[in-house]
Amino acid sequence: MIFDRSFYIFVVVYLLVYIYSFHGPFMNQALQAIYVSIVIILLSFSVASIANETIDFENMEHEIYLKPWQSYQKIIAVESAAQSYNELTYLWWLVRKAQTENLIYFYDDFSHTVTLASGLVSSKTPLEITARLSLYQGLIDRRNGHYKSSSVALSKGLMQAKEAKLSRLYIYTKQELAYTKTLTELFDTSLVDIQEAYVEAFALKDQFLIASINETYGAIYGYLNDYKKSIEYYHRAYDAYQNLQYPAHIAEAIYGLASTYRYWEKYDLAIEYFEKYQQQINYTPNANINFFAEYGLGMTLAEKGDCLEAITIINRALKLKGVIDYNAELYKRKASCLIELGQLDAAEEAIFEAASIFANIPELIGTTWQLEVIKLSSVLAYARKQYDIGYNMLNKYHIEHTDLLIKNSSDRLLKVRARMEVERHKIAQNLAEKRSQVQLLELEKQQNDNVIQIYFNIFIITAIFIVIVVMVAQYKTNKKMHLLSIKDSLTGLFNRRYIFEYLEEAIQGRDPDKFSTTVVLIDIDDFKVINDTYGHPVGDDVIRKVAQVGRDVFRQGDIFGRIGGEEFLCILPRTTVLEATKIAERFLALVSSSTMVEGQQDKITVSIGIAALSSQCQDINQLYINADQALYQAKHSGKNQVHVF
Ligand code: GH3
Ligand code: MG
Ligand code: MG
Repeated sequence: MIFDRSFYIFVVVYLLVYIYSFHGPFMNQALQAIYVSIVIILLSFSVASIANETIDFENMEHEIYLKPWQSYQKIIAVESAAQSYNELTYLWWLVRKAQTENLIYFYDDFSHTVTLASGLVSSKTPLEITARLSLYQGLIDRRNGHYKSSSVALSKGLMQAKEAKLSRLYIYTKQELAYTKTLTELFDTSLVDIQEAYVEAFALKDQFLIASINETYGAIYGYLNDYKKSIEYYHRAYDAYQNLQYPAHIAEAIYGLASTYRYWEKYDLAIEYFEKYQQQINYTPNANINFFAEYGLGMTLAEKGDCLEAITIINRALKLKGVIDYNAELYKRKASCLIELGQLDAAEEAIFEAASIFANIPELIGTTWQLEVIKLSSVLAYARKQYDIGYNMLNKYHIEHTDLLIKNSSDRLLKVRARMEVERHKIAQNLAEKRSQVQLLELEKQQNDNVIQIYFNIFIITAIFIVIVVMVAQYKTNKKMHLLSIKDSLTGLFNRRYIFEYLEEAIQGRDPDKFSTTVVLIDIDDFKVINDTYGHPVGDDVIRKVAQVGRDVFRQGDIFGRIGGEEFLCILPRTTVLEATKIAERFLALVSSSTMVEGQQDKITVSIGIAALSSQCQDINQLYINADQALYQAKHSGKNQVHVF
């Protein structure tokens, strides 16, 4: 939302108050309709901005990475409501639930959620969802040691992401695929894939993707026994994840560092990092995650030669819910320690456990990890002094291992790396071009955003301007109407209604001076004759002339008005009868100095009656009757004079 919600609410409240305050007779219906529509528009903006605050599953990736556990809680909290979402939102809900479960190591739930979501996928499901589900399926299969199906799922996800033009998801899936290929020792293809992914992520300047790829590089170089490079890449990933403050990813990078140090035989550093990892995984209360810490520590201690301590930790790890091929490694290491300690039967049991695991993962048959079981069996046979069996086993191991080494010969790896360098060079040339394209696109997007912002601001400013203009017009009209309602159209003086209302208020008010209010009632003499002699237009002129004299004679605070045909009333606040008489006489004198028609002799005369409020006369009717009686006396005594009641 471009403006803060409080802004809309403010304007809405303001307009509502405005409409309410002009609810009176002068509020035009058309204007009311305009105000109400503006209120409705702004209210809908305001509601839209509130709606934005409900969980937006589609855009909560960053939040999930930042706070996996809290996000999981938030997602789980709406579980019952989620059932009633529309199908698309429910799928997004499942996708995000799966994502958090993965990050907090709820692997069984993760797998279950992905299966559930995949079951709901139809031909109408957007690729954004299916691509993610394929990616997650790939991760699940890989974790279960099913590398082939993992590759299939990840390749499918890759195609879906590509089709939907989801570049970030595409790159992310690509690096996961590269990692899976590494695990099946397809180093050459995985290195090319990861290199491509890196170039693409770099063009997008996406810190998170670059970090993920660096992490995978760390893993691949680790498998290639290039430990220095592996540590370097893991450190890059670690620093970037620290920057992004993604706890689960920080933990992964630390774990990578620890594992590489272990393979590099820098056991103390490895132990230090595994312990650091144990601290970092506090972000999730899931105890099973500790499996990886225990695994790393147990393996490292065993390799370091601390077999007794190692076996304790390995047993602890095996009791936790781990990952199947990691368990195989643990059993192998345990067996080797047990042989060293002379516990040969227990060692045989451990070897059997390891062999059974490998037997169930066809992808791992023929790999170094599986061949090591044969080697271990041979060592056990030797320890049991079964030299023949030991020899045969060792022979078998060497033949298969040599084959494997030839397959993965360092020559070949060197070739792969050289090819990779050429590739890297080629792609680097395009990089500058791509980057400037990206910059151009960004600039364009920025400009578009600016234009939208400007249009919106113009809209709001125009709306406010219209409201202000309408309000000013309304104010002016109201003022004019009010004046019209209290003025006499012939003379411009106050009308009868106003004069009597004023008098009513003055009498009812608590003003201590109200008893010094005097009224002067004026009536033009022989007006009928004037009309009859000169006609009505001249009669009107005479009325106007008398009004003008009143304007000249009466003071600022006096209320002078026409109350009937040729009858005027002036209210003189804080004026004694004596003062009023003087003023009335001045009025009388001034009127009689003017003629009815310019150039003619006939003078205008008036008769005046004066009455004042007093303790005996507190009533407006009485006051008027008194003034009228005084006027009658003035008329009766020959007109053109002032009489006081
Ligand atoms: P008096 O000296 O006793 O007051 O006699 P008068 O003729 O002035 O009083 P009367 O009440 O008999 O006549 C008033 C006349 O004023 C009657 C009416 O036709 C006329 N009149 C009332 N309103 C207007 C007006 O707005 N314009 C004009 N030209 N004449 C009006
Ligand atoms: Mg009269
Ligand atoms: Mg008269």
